[in-house]
Amino acid sequence: MSKFSALGFDIGSTTAKIVAVDETGKIIWQYIENTEPKIEEQVENLLKKVKKEVGDTLNIPVVATGYGRNLVLQANRKVTEITCHAKGIFKAVGHGGTLVDIGGQDSKVIIISDKGKVVDFTMNDKCAAGTGRFLENTAERMKIPVENIGKLSIESPDEVNISSTCTVFAESEIISMLAHGEGIAPILKGLHRGLISRVVGMIRSVGLVPPLMLSGGVVKNDAIRKMLSESTKQTVIVPEYPQLMGAYGAALIALKE
Ligand code: ADP
Repeated sequence: MSKFSALGFDIGSTTAKIVAVDETGKIIWQYIENTEPKIEEQVENLLKKVKKEVGDTLNIPVVATGYGRNLVLQANRKVTEITCHAKGIFKAVGHGGTLVDIGGQDSKVIIISDKGKVVDFTMNDKCAAGTGRFLENTAERMKIPVENIGKLSIESPDEVNISSTCTVFAESEIISMLAHGEGIAPILKGLHRGLISRVVGMIRSVGLVPPLMLSGGVVKNDAIRKMLSESTKQTVIVPEYPQLMGAYGAALIALKE
């Protein structure tokens, strides 16, 4: 293993991510688990894991991002998600453009210059309908693993229109559709469409600067990538570790400390 040189934490509302990088900024270790209610305790345990699996963390610079970043007491610095995501994706793909990050409970669109600077951004953390939770709630109710809903949607020739723009109302609408014998896959496809239309609205509000790049746990979903590409008429670029861009950016900032 190359030399362990910096650590980045991204404590999101749904998952906690850690990335360890070497002196060149290459990812040498990474870890993802669900965010726990007691974040300070979780971070302590995660640091023990790093010590065991990567090496001693003494004198290793740490930067934290994500909604729980202020609870990472061991961090030398706390940096916003917008800055960290921009840093992470720029290093991962090597160019600027428009980054769309869809997480468990928020989504953001960041315009990044060809020098890697944030030019503009918009963020939605108020309405669950443009986030992973919109899909997750329904997947859970249908007892389908969230990893499988994208494939089912892509394979479905039919699509149901879900008119509710709020997760709570959409859930009631879906329950009623299921009760009336509507198929699971067409409902899932309609649900994906609803999420995409909200994200495309966000992209339009800042103005798309190609190429379109994707990050966040939700873009591991094939249907999301396909539908976003179709609706924006853009080829989408997905880094090797889409869910880790915030933690990676944090580790790269730590490396410069
Ligand atoms: P946050 O940073 O906001 O905590 P993440 O970027 O980690 O969120 O994304 C979490 C979301 O990603 C959850 O809604 C989860 O359902 C979704 N997700 C994670 N892995 C997959 C997968 N393999 N397929 C589909 N969705 C996924």
